Amino acid sequence: MLPVVAIVGRPNVGKSTLFNRLVGERWAIVDDRPGITRDRLYREIEWLNRRLVVVDTGGIEPYPADEIGKNVRAQAELAIDEADVVLFVVDGQTGPLADDVDVAEKLRRSGKPIVLAVNKIDHPKHLERRYDFYALGLGEPYGISAAHGTGIGELMDAVLAAL
Ligand code: GDP
Ligand code: MG
Repeated sequence: MLPVVAIVGRPNVGKSTLFNRLVGERWAIVDDRPGITRDRLYREIEWLNRRLVVVDTGGIEPYPADEIGKNVRAQAELAIDEADVVLFVVDGQTGPLADDVDVAEKLRRSGKPIVLAVNKIDHPKHLERRYDFYALGLGEPYGISAAHGTGIGELMDAVLAAL
């Protein structure tokens, strides 16, 4: 069985954009509206000669705003069950939100290896925004821009090291 890396996080943080970046093609649907990603997507990738499966755990159905927290928690549960490493994505432009704190707590208690990606760091001068996320208690926050493809190498080094 190949190792499984599950991408988890609130709607709109850029999970599908990161998934597409790792897969190298546009598989997942990227949408501006929170909660519109359709499916859980599995794809096999090769990274530095290691084969692994990445999972985009986006919500299956559109859901009302007050259900978002519930949905993200459900994704986190699935990821904890199925994944060898959980890639937890947060939004560097919004900073840590209550749902991030909730999910972080659950992930931390699971004992699974977690790698924390602070997305939407589109410019090096914004890298310091990642420091706000140390408060989640998940170790080093990796600053990335899934849209621009920056920081992905270091992030994936951390994922491979956690396997
Ligand atoms: P998901 O709901 O977590 O799967 O998020 P999506 O991948 O669908 O992205 C949500 C929105 O964030 C889209 O408008 C993306 O274009 C945007 N986005 C994703 N990654 C980045 C990034 O690195 N920088 C910026 N500025 N926007 C991004
Ligand atoms: Mg998505």
